[in-house]
Amino acid sequence: MTDRSAPESLPHAGPDRGFSTRAIHDGQSFDPRTGAVIPPIFMTSTFVQDGVGGFRDGYEYSRGGNPSRDALQVQLASLEGGSHAYTFGSGLAAEDAVLRAALQPGDHVLMGNDVYGGTHRLVSQVWERWGVEITTADASDLDAVRAAIRPNTRVLWVETPSNPLMKVADIAGLAELGHAAGAIVVADNTFATPYLQQPLLLGADVVLHSTTKYIGGHSDLVGGAAVTADAGLAERIAFQQFAVGAVNSPFDAWLTSRSLKTLAVRMDRHCSNAQAVAEALVGNPAITAVHYPGLPDHPQHELAGRQMRGFGGMVSMQLTGGHEAALELVRRTRVFQLAESLGGVESLVCLPSEMTHASVKGTELAVPDDLLRLSVGLEDSDDQIADLLEALASLS
Ligand SMILES: *Cc1c(COP(=O)(O)O)cnc(C)c1O
Repeated sequence: MTDRSAPESLPHAGPDRGFSTRAIHDGQSFDPRTGAVIPPIFMTSTFVQDGVGGFRDGYEYSRGGNPSRDALQVQLASLEGGSHAYTFGSGLAAEDAVLRAALQPGDHVLMGNDVYGGTHRLVSQVWERWGVEITTADASDLDAVRAAIRPNTRVLWVETPSNPLMKVADIAGLAELGHAAGAIVVADNTFATPYLQQPLLLGADVVLHSTTKYIGGHSDLVGGAAVTADAGLAERIAFQQFAVGAVNSPFDAWLTSRSLKTLAVRMDRHCSNAQAVAEALVGNPAITAVHYPGLPDHPQHELAGRQMRGFGGMVSMQLTGGHEAALELVRRTRVFQLAESLGGVESLVCLPSEMTHASVKGTELAVPDDLLRLSVGLEDSDDQIADLLEALASLS
């Protein structure tokens, strides 16, 4: 397979340019035939050959390579500060490819204890059957992680900020611990996005994304990505993408590229709207706790300020009235619609214990049943706050 993921293989703005310049131009050059400013969507499964093996620009068959997917991969690698990116049909498909690239039977995976429920399920219910062990530790506590590392730990998996408790883990500290133990460090950067946080530059080996969320940003696609600056890992992930075949469609790749171009402006507004929501909720008598790294009393507020450009668009809260109040509140909000997922322009609310994290009920990853998670969207801030405050007031 020809390597088309290296940023230098397509015209690009280059590493000296700012984030949004790279988001808009890297991998996204105009169509050379027509001058169309937006690269076309290459909805094709196969490519005509000029004689056997005479590939045009290396393209042979779309599972192995497609120009729309390559354009996205170049753009994503540039934004994360990696050399190679690989995109998939979902975040979990990307996770599976990274695990296949890194693990053998007998290996151990150490995971943060409040990672996305589906990530834990993938290892504990799929990978354990193939001889891989999994345990968890509080990733925001370096001593706890150090104590949980085993001689056969080969993957240290961290998600920060975490889902749904919004804990922040020290990526550079974890990278040091993982590397000393001979493990690769994978950072799920779905909540922060490369605009707010760049784990590869902090020492992580692989950045993982559910592009379904902020990167897609409009709740209209499902996708995933793995990005690395390690050529050996890149080759192994590329092989999994090609040989297992969980690729995204050219149309989804194109939509994701379209969305990445506005990531910075969207994230700035997600951050300011979430900060305003979190501050408006603090002290409300119907709430016992608000979890948001942008609040000064968040346990890792200072670390988040150093590691991230902004605190993100996700807020969670626990209710005085417990589980019943949580069930009631999600029936009363209007701007915040009840749905799984996050990161879109519209605000969403979910009850993780019954929805996103139902798969880890009864395990050490179970989340409090009085906890609601808010994905603070891009509606007017006043409308978002009024919606929540009115619904909370109606509970009592
Ligand atoms: C949604 C999500 C995933 C899984 O991604 P899918 O695109 O749903 O497969 C992984 N990690 C985090 C943090 C997520 O929010």
